[in-house]
Amino acid sequence: MKTDIQIAQDAKMMPILEIGKQLGLEEDDLELYGKYKGKIALDVYDKLKDKPDGKLVLVTAINPTAAGEGKTTTNVGLSMGLNKIGKKTITALREPSLGPSFGVKGGAAGGGYAQVVPMDDINLHFTGDIHAITTANNLLAALLDNHLQQGNQLNVDPRRITWKRCLDMNDRALRNVVVGLGGRANGVPREDGFDISVASEIMAILCLSNDMNDLKNRLSRMIVGFTYENEPVTAEQLEATGALALLLKDAIKPNLVQTLENTPAIIHGGPFANIAHGCNSVMATKIGLKLADYVITEAGFGADLGAEKFFDIKCRFAQLKPDATVIVATARALKNHGGVPKAKLNEENIEALDKGFGNLEKQIENVRKFGVPVVVAINKFPTDTDGEIKLIEQKCKDLGVAVILSDVWAKGGEGAIELAHKVVELCESGEANFKPLYDVSLSIKEKIKMIAKEIYGADGVEFTSTAEKEIQKYEKLNLDKMPICIAKTQYSLSDNPKLLGKPAGFNITIKNIRISAGAGFLLALAGDIMTMPGLPKVPAANNMDILEDGEIVGLF
Ligand code: ADP
Ligand code: MG
Repeated sequence: MKTDIQIAQDAKMMPILEIGKQLGLEEDDLELYGKYKGKIALDVYDKLKDKPDGKLVLVTAINPTAAGEGKTTTNVGLSMGLNKIGKKTITALREPSLGPSFGVKGGAAGGGYAQVVPMDDINLHFTGDIHAITTANNLLAALLDNHLQQGNQLNVDPRRITWKRCLDMNDRALRNVVVGLGGRANGVPREDGFDISVASEIMAILCLSNDMNDLKNRLSRMIVGFTYENEPVTAEQLEATGALALLLKDAIKPNLVQTLENTPAIIHGGPFANIAHGCNSVMATKIGLKLADYVITEAGFGADLGAEKFFDIKCRFAQLKPDATVIVATARALKNHGGVPKAKLNEENIEALDKGFGNLEKQIENVRKFGVPVVVAINKFPTDTDGEIKLIEQKCKDLGVAVILSDVWAKGGEGAIELAHKVVELCESGEANFKPLYDVSLSIKEKIKMIAKEIYGADGVEFTSTAEKEIQKYEKLNLDKMPICIAKTQYSLSDNPKLLGKPAGFNITIKNIRISAGAGFLLALAGDIMTMPGLPKVPAANNMDILEDGEIVGLF
């Protein structure tokens, strides 16, 4: 069997100008990054702004397990299937971060015969967006430390600085560092730390901005720390906004590439799905909706985190109205939710599947709460048995939800024809009546309780005394009327990664509240969230190579 990189390297790519032409883009609308990658000029949106939008479809999933689910693969395959049945469709995805690629997770460009290409470029430096974000993030850190060095006019308390440096690498040794050592000429000593670049607030901002002006406004509002009097200090006060925006002038333009079947793919922005909202950029989605009849997009992790934030944060800010949602599930993952360990997932186990189905059931209920119709896509694996597939289909039918077997990993777009027809049917049914879950004017606690009870199925929420203090602080600063971004384990509906399936009778504990004032949300931390991952004992990097003739190996 061929590896993903082998399949990708066999692809017959079309010049990106040709892909652009399929979408009605002219030569001047694309800035070329080589022959197969292009950035879409931002004035394309202005030119098309009076054109009606296409249909917006979200691909989400059950809670992730060690068994793998395949959201990106399904997303890419579905978009190819829709193109096959004559619907002009764009897949809109997130940009992969280098950290996980060299660690354990693997690439993020789909898999098998449902991939986006050039897969190697997309998984490596791509068009440099993440590097630009890293640089902007670190410029702000440098300006801040220089401010301390030059007399600290703003009275910033070095112990209350919240802005960290960043790097797009899994490097646990940089989580906690001391900077400014070496005497007077070398800065003011203070504790600092590094996050992975995709966890930077600047990534979240790039992905939530509607245009350059909006980007600048959001950058200016970023809080870098607090003064000795506990007043916030912003990027604007450090006179950083203009330079940061300048560094991002190309990064804000959506990237156009293609699928293995030469259909268009826009890949732009990739914020973390725990301490940020986990969706590709608003600008990519909005331009896509002007250029195509269908845009298929993805949100990170399961529907409890990904879809909730897509709806409550991204769609709310960008005034998007999703038309349908695809929830990806696999028999293997559902068995895992039903208690089967990873090593035994290849064996049929109807009983465990029946039990684990509760997780899918809850995620279906969750998406329906936002008024968006659902189809379940069973992502087919070679080890699935007929009995297992039949059980999932029957249980979905009992819930009155459409369910389709999808075989895009093995067959590409051909494996998603039936799914594509169902998605069209749902989008054209006019059934969608999108509304966010909560009103932002509710109190911080009320908003968190609503998400925990309605979406996670929790009995209630406990707040630590630290969280209580922070809530009071943001209320006093009048910064409490923002959407909530909950940082929680992705593995469970609860805040305990070990509670799989559909847990009941639990509370969520909020340990702390932070703010991403530029991105425009309050972070509620339900657990210890890793913002700088580490590498495993045998990192994926150890198996990678490039041969004399340019052939790449080990990139999955
Ligand atoms: P997600 O977006 O949910 O994280 P991906 O689509 O990136 O998941 O898939 C995760 C991994 O699983 C990829 O390596 C992909 O090739 C593999 N995969 C996905 N679907 C299948 C399938 N049906 N059969 C075999 N492998 C699959
Ligand atoms: Mg993915």
